[in-house]
Amino acid sequence: MNLYKNRLCCHFSLVKVFLINPNRLSCRRRSVLSFLLHPIGFCDIFSTSLSIDSIRAKTMRILAIETSCDDTGAAVILNGRKILSNVVSSQVPIHQKYGGVVPELASRRHIEMIVPIVTEALGTAKVTLREIDGIAVTQGPGLIGSLLVGLSFAKSLSFATGLPLVGVNHIEAHLSAIFLEKVTPKFPFIGLVVSGGHTSLFRVDGFGKFRRLGQTRDDAAGEAFDKVAKLLGLGYPGGPIIDELSKRGNPKAIRFPRPSLGKNSFDFSFSGIKTAVVNYVKSHPEALGTHPEELIRDIVSSFQEAVVEVLVKKTIEAAQHERLKRVVLSGGVAANRLLRERVKEQASECKIAVYIPLPSFCTDNAAMVGVAGYEYLKRGIRAPLSLNAFSNMPL
Ligand code: ADP
Ligand code: MG
Repeated sequence: MNLYKNRLCCHFSLVKVFLINPNRLSCRRRSVLSFLLHPIGFCDIFSTSLSIDSIRAKTMRILAIETSCDDTGAAVILNGRKILSNVVSSQVPIHQKYGGVVPELASRRHIEMIVPIVTEALGTAKVTLREIDGIAVTQGPGLIGSLLVGLSFAKSLSFATGLPLVGVNHIEAHLSAIFLEKVTPKFPFIGLVVSGGHTSLFRVDGFGKFRRLGQTRDDAAGEAFDKVAKLLGLGYPGGPIIDELSKRGNPKAIRFPRPSLGKNSFDFSFSGIKTAVVNYVKSHPEALGTHPEELIRDIVSSFQEAVVEVLVKKTIEAAQHERLKRVVLSGGVAANRLLRERVKEQASECKIAVYIPLPSFCTDNAAMVGVAGYEYLKRGIRAPLSLNAFSNMPL
């Protein structure tokens, strides 16, 4: 991993050298970098002095970058709320055949995609770098090689342009995605972040004001969806596939466990449910036989039912425990149809309002990084160029 880190640092230090003193580079390197950076208005900006005070202007456009896992994302966000562009390049076709994300392949693809995706985001928003007021980038948690690509790129861009930079926690970005919607929650609220890498409950009192109430002790919910789908040979990523197949399955066919981990515990555990599915399949080999469709639909539907039941129960209990009347769901698994329906139904019985972003803002995207980044940049918070990426970065 160190070798990889060094290679990336080297890659982006070339960009820095190019912008400070292009004559120090060989002709070939100079022309390759001019070619790569020209579409995003670099050559233009290089000869122009930017006013960092534009940050105090009434309108603020943030260029946001997200590369924490296997999606390369870039977005331009106006005043932390309005999406001028939001581009996501998915790596699903690359990782599909392995049944999960291969970190080395993910970082290599980010390197290939970062310039075209940032270029596309600026182009779609119809702005050049001269009209951008700050850069927000995901700093962690996530795959270290993937994070370093976005972070090193953002640092190089900030260094070259003088634009203020801020690092954003990916989990906070997920919790901020709701502010891209028309109807937004007031603080405080309970936030459930449920994705492939995380399953945590927070009390959220404002931007940057979080208290974690619980988290998974083993697998994240999305990880369990992905592993069950892999076990049954259904493909990757498992969440959307199981969501679709479950529509025609019987959720009561098999009773999988619903671990509660004790009264007043807001922790989760999904590895037991996953193991129960493994054991069920072992004792029912016909599940993987020649006519498995109906049984598979029942297995995944019953599995989804168990996961959703636990997620909804703990979220509502957390709201009641904190005496809050608002809950926000976010992260890839919050795109799940049953989870969205069920939490709304059960919360309304307790007079709790539910806010869930559109499915495309639940899964990884840069727009949500722009929302969180804006909140920090407008308060004058800046990251130094020594900003580092962290695979483990608790909120
Ligand atoms: P990360 O986990 O890297 O933060 P995301 O926030 O995009 O990434 O979440 C991806 C996870 O969400 C994957 O595990 C995927 O299976 C899961 N997921 C996506 N859509 C659905 C869905 N409709 N139902 C259940 N899980 C889903
Ligand atoms: Mg995510």
